[in-house]
Amino acid sequence: MKIVGIEHVGVAVNSINEKAAFWEYILKINRTATETVADQGVSTAIFDTGKGKIELLEAIDPNSPIAKYISKRGPGIHHICLEVEDITSAIKELKENDISLINETPTRGVEGYLIAFIHPRSTGGVLVELAQKQKPQ
Ligand code: ZN
Repeated sequence: MKIVGIEHVGVAVNSINEKAAFWEYILKINRTATETVADQGVSTAIFDTGKGKIELLEAIDPNSPIAKYISKRGPGIHHICLEVEDITSAIKELKENDISLINETPTRGVEGYLIAFIHPRSTGGVLVELAQKQKPQ
């Protein structure tokens, strides 16, 4: 598989409204997107440094993965996202190497990316997201 680079770092927060100001006004990183991913029970805000993004994640559903993560570990770094050229072939290659995947088929993430998560048990304890940019239609 071809890894293009680090797309973003996902940070779990209790409140985007409370925490966005630090990234937007103190660090002066451009906020480029605010998006809800309903099927993951999460609201997101994206800050783009131009060389990698920060993705704030706030649970909008008490049973969502982010809500569970925060109640277990508190707010903090939740995942690292690597951009790949071809997510379908990346998933296939990971399966062939017995890597534990949370998503065995690509699902839709923020900003129209196709995404899949790799289980932390296979990565040394960090949740890794793979993302493929969608070609404009
Ligand atoms: Zn992410």
